[in-house]
Amino acid sequence: MSEPTNGRTPDRKPAGGLTIDFGGGLSGGLAGPLAGPPMVAGEAAAGAALPQAGGPAAGGHDHGAVEAKVVIVGSGPAGLTAAIYAARANLAPVVLAGTTPGGQLMITSEVENYPGFPDGVEGPELMALFRQQAERFGATIVDADVERVDFSGRPFGLWADGVEYRAQAVIIATGASAIWLGLPSETRLRGRGVSACATCDGFFFRDMEIAVVGGGDSAIEEALFLTKFASKVHLVHRRDQFRASKIMQQRAFEHPRMEIHLNATVEEVLGEERVEGLRLRDTTDGHLWTLPVQGLFVAIGHRPNTAVFRDPLEVDAKGYLVVHDETLSRVEGVFVAGDVHDHRYRQAITAAGDGCKAAIDAERWLEAEGIAEVSTATAW
Ligand SMILES: Cc1cc2nc3c(=O)[nH]c(=O)nc-3n(C[C@H](O)[C@H](O)[C@H](O)COP(=O)(O)OP(=O)(O)OC[C@H]3O[C@@H](n4cnc5c(N)ncnc54)[C@H](O)[C@@H]3O)c2cc1C
Repeated sequence: MSEPTNGRTPDRKPAGGLTIDFGGGLSGGLAGPLAGPPMVAGEAAAGAALPQAGGPAAGGHDHGAVEAKVVIVGSGPAGLTAAIYAARANLAPVVLAGTTPGGQLMITSEVENYPGFPDGVEGPELMALFRQQAERFGATIVDADVERVDFSGRPFGLWADGVEYRAQAVIIATGASAIWLGLPSETRLRGRGVSACATCDGFFFRDMEIAVVGGGDSAIEEALFLTKFASKVHLVHRRDQFRASKIMQQRAFEHPRMEIHLNATVEEVLGEERVEGLRLRDTTDGHLWTLPVQGLFVAIGHRPNTAVFRDPLEVDAKGYLVVHDETLSRVEGVFVAGDVHDHRYRQAITAAGDGCKAAIDAERWLEAEGIAEVSTATAW
């Protein structure tokens, strides 16, 4: 962990000698300016060809709508990997990147477990490289949120920033957002001792004393996992008992390097440059006290970004999209990838793998429907 971005998307982030625009607007294969809706503007960074209206590949205008064989929603590891595969299969995908282009890794600093980077890589740098690779093969990337969809028939309709997109196939890769405590000090120290991902960041806290906040199974699971690195793990929960299963609670209470603090809320994360402690409030009598720790893991849950898809698609009890047979949703032609359905692994590499699978499945489906020609890339 080094410098955090505190959840703010940098306007232009240097990445391995590259300068990639994350600042909104459109880049990639759709270039212009074209007559018609305002979203099709700006020369393609990758120099890809202009799509022709009604043309066979990706873009084009039909009564003001942008048409594409594949629209990918989300531009984290899942969405951009899907874009790389779909673009290399000549599907000229349009990526609706959302208002957090690059996804969750844009708010982290060092990523040490993404293969191919033996010295680690900054999250924003990694995502800039993903984006550049997708654009290189002709993906069009629009930094806009999808506000509404119509999956009742093909072409599917998606609306983002006042523009309608029509797609023969859709890949949803909108991820999930970690829920934070909402304290200014927590935001300021994100990436400097504050994390929401034990698997990702536990390694940085070897032999340190840290705290985990939360009361469910995943909070206890993260706390137990962190005992592999930390000298001591303080588990802080605001209620007088945990929501977690009895077996998990028993493991936590019996662990020699865990200390449990019930009826305690975090009032402030202490420290200027790095986490130096937590100011806690005892909810039974209101008194404040300080817990000297060097790390804080917030484990109070994730919110899947599925609000616009809940009607046409199936969600589970936690609101995550339900998939069948790897990447299929219940609507034929709509595929799902990454953390938006996967609350088990939640890693960049698994999301990227999922994006690859969804693009291959979409391509095969388009081939079966007679919409896309067989590509050498996936015809093995
Ligand atoms: C602090 C932190 C540190 C982490 N560190 C690591 C690490 O070191 N290693 C690791 O492997 N993993 C790490 N992770 C986990 C990793 O970031 C995620 O598993 C991965 O980013 C999931 O990828 P995704 O593409 O499924 O979704 P996300 O990365 O969440 O991307 C979702 C995308 O969907 C877009 N979106 C959302 N709603 C809409 C909408 N309505 N319309 C259009 N677009 C939309 C967003 O703008 C975003 O681009 C970390 C996570 C966090 C929070």
